[in-house]
Amino acid sequence: MMALILRLLLIALFVWLGYKLVRKLITPPAQLPPADTPPQVMQRCAYCDVHVPAGESTQSRGKVFCSEAHRDAWFRDHPSGD
Ligand SMILES: [Zn+2]
Repeated sequence: MMALILRLLLIALFVWLGYKLVRKLITPPAQLPPADTPPQVMQRCAYCDVHVPAGESTQSRGKVFCSEAHRDAWFRDHPSGD
């Protein structure tokens, strides 16, 4: 009778170990994507050709600029807008 219980315990142990092993194999390693860095669209300053993230660029009349200073400078050089 004791041998039977021991055998059942062993089987249960192997099943549990196998379950843990399978879980480990199926579950990919925790790779947390950087939540606060969405893919940044880079835009080119029409004035100095520097690439700036879309969120940091200044846009005016369909043109993209790295700064308000370059926006002003570009429109000073191109009063007609092209
Ligand atoms: Zn610029």
